[in-house]
Amino acid sequence: ADRDRLATATGPGRTADGHPVKLLLNIGSVADIPAGSPGEGVGLFRSEFLFLDRRTAPTHQEQTGAYEAVLRAFPEATVVVRTLDAGTDKPLPFLGLPEELNPALGVRGLRVSRRSPEVLDAQLDALAEAARVSGTSPWVMAPMVTTPGEAADFARRARARGLADVGVMVEVPAAALHAHRLLDEVDFLSIGTNDLSQYTFASDRQHGELADLLDPWQPALLQLIAQCAEAGRAAGKPVGVCGEAAADPLLATVLVGLGVTSLSMSARSVPAVRDSLARHTLDQCREHARLALAAADPDGARTAVREAAAA
Ligand code: PEP
Ligand code: MG
Repeated sequence: ADRDRLATATGPGRTADGHPVKLLLNIGSVADIPAGSPGEGVGLFRSEFLFLDRRTAPTHQEQTGAYEAVLRAFPEATVVVRTLDAGTDKPLPFLGLPEELNPALGVRGLRVSRRSPEVLDAQLDALAEAARVSGTSPWVMAPMVTTPGEAADFARRARARGLADVGVMVEVPAAALHAHRLLDEVDFLSIGTNDLSQYTFASDRQHGELADLLDPWQPALLQLIAQCAEAGRAAGKPVGVCGEAAADPLLATVLVGLGVTSLSMSARSVPAVRDSLARHTLDQCREHARLALAAADPDGARTAVREAAAA
């Protein structure tokens, strides 16, 4: 067993029977990629860190440099860059957004480009340039996408700049319900379970008192993820998870059983998730998914899967 464990301490993610699951990193800058990184690439580069605490937008050169640094860290691998996820909850002075009564339900994420399309265009220009200079092919995705029309508009703008792999995040229940229609417009989906929980359970993701509702083992959340994964399978396109749910080693087996093709998390979470997947076959993951979906609540789901994993 020790030898098996050693064999899975690094290297690509896979189930015990060899089904590949890409294990990617969530980062805010190149500094979040440790030396000898455990991940197989970047699944979520949160680009807003470039924009925070500034009175003016970062220049084309600053942006290009930051993207290039991340792309050069994984020249052969998948690197998914997320466009600016700002709004009145993460206020950016240079955007001049007015205060909103309900910031989480307001102009945030991709919606900011309704008012300030030039910010998104400048970001896509800088990413395209970074791709050219580094000779790499980044994937690009937009946050807080709600409709297929928004996905189509984002894809058109990214592809016009030569960015070939375009995706959207699924963070809003409407997007999960229409995952198949989103996949008519884009090349991949990445499920942000932090926001998808918030919007599905109508519970502020920062609200400690509502942590039980925001539990990533909620069967209703898993059902939405299943729907996205099924749409991905039908379209032959990747569907990943990049929210906190992906970092839970046991829940990772459920997500893989639901049909998710990659899991993205902070670097420190990768070894335990890799280990957990390596100890279960794809069929066992599918059984875990079935048990979790059938449970009445998060504790029931967790207990059923824990017992199955221990059997
Ligand atoms: C998410 O919402 O799950 C996500 C990954 O994005 P963020 O946490 O940056 O909102
Ligand atoms: Mg989010």
